[in-house]
Amino acid sequence: LQQLWVPLGFLGWQYRELKQSLIDMQNLFDVLARPARVRDVPSAARLAVSGGEVVFENVSFSYGATEPLVPTAEAEAATAAGNGAAKSGNGDVTSRGAMDKDARTAPVVHKVSFRVPAGKTLAIVGSSGSGKSTTLRLLYRLYDLTGGRILIDGQDISKVTQASLREAIGIVSQDTVLFNESLYYNIAYGRPGASPAEVEAAARAAQVHDTIMAMPDGYDTLVGERGAKLSGGERQRVAIARCILKRAAILTLDEASAALDTATEQKVTAALTALGTDRTCLIVAHRLSTVVDADEILVMRNGEVVERGTHADLLVRVPTSEYKLMWARQLAEKTKGAPSTPAEGDE
Ligand code: ADP
Ligand code: MG
Repeated sequence: LQQLWVPLGFLGWQYRELKQSLIDMQNLFDVLARPARVRDVPSAARLAVSGGEVVFENVSFSYGATEPLVPTAEAEAATAAGNGAAKSGNGDVTSRGAMDKDARTAPVVHKVSFRVPAGKTLAIVGSSGSGKSTTLRLLYRLYDLTGGRILIDGQDISKVTQASLREAIGIVSQDTVLFNESLYYNIAYGRPGASPAEVEAAARAAQVHDTIMAMPDGYDTLVGERGAKLSGGERQRVAIARCILKRAAILTLDEASAALDTATEQKVTAALTALGTDRTCLIVAHRLSTVVDADEILVMRNGEVVERGTHADLLVRVPTSEYKLMWARQLAEKTKGAPSTPAEGDE
């Protein structure tokens, strides 16, 4: 029962503030019924964020070694919203459950080290399954590490309360979960208590205000089950607006690998620029436009960092870089008119 108490306290006021459907409640209890493996240490302090510096020191992890508090997609959704209530994830969870034991215990992240100074941007690229998304999940402690440490502003994230850790991090992930509520509700969820003017300002910065105003019901438009009535690019921008409102010091972004049309791409890029300003950003990147300006780029393969540097470093100083091949392949595909999915190109 004590296990249930902590997350419930965390969720309590959210539930008083916001109307939730019975289905949300059912999902909430499904989530809470799972055993909590990631626990706060006794007398855990709150994370004190000064600038948002992120340091990974020899970080290693394998999925077999530890179980998440909740399945990945659900937990990510919950964290993205800055609190716990989330609808269940995508098919991911079931398929992971069916994996054989060897696959579950192989190291997925192996001795990864990097430092992202406050306000700077780290981009992570690499082929599908190389451990990029997992690396981001480790930062918000969906799992405990099997080796190494992760520090935010000098504090080991395993020693602070999970609630304070997740307040410090904004997430835009591949399958952002929207509630079947109004657009207003879905954006305002980033910071309960935000004023209508703040919600609109966030929507404008995220390049989604005009799109919303063009809909017959404007901000009152219901988004449908899991946001089904919106296009992928619209869902992404609603998620970015929510995240802008949250004002977290650190942002993790797991970029969608599917190609966007040019107009949408420009809007998403502008929205991300607004979101990334003055924040520490860790981005799993699939688009060259996101990567080129990163302060450091990591290329991952089989859970390890195999190349690192700026865009210019990797293109010029390392003439045979995997990075260079990756973008050459993307450019070739673009010219052929095929969808540009550089990092997933080996599938
Ligand atoms: P990427 O984001 O680079 O495509 P991931 O971090 O998603 O890579 O996955 C790295 C490896 O971990 C893959 O082999 C993947 O199958 C496995 N994996 C990812 N998520 C889970 C999970 N929840 N449970 C077990 N294995 C997982
Ligand atoms: Mg991924």
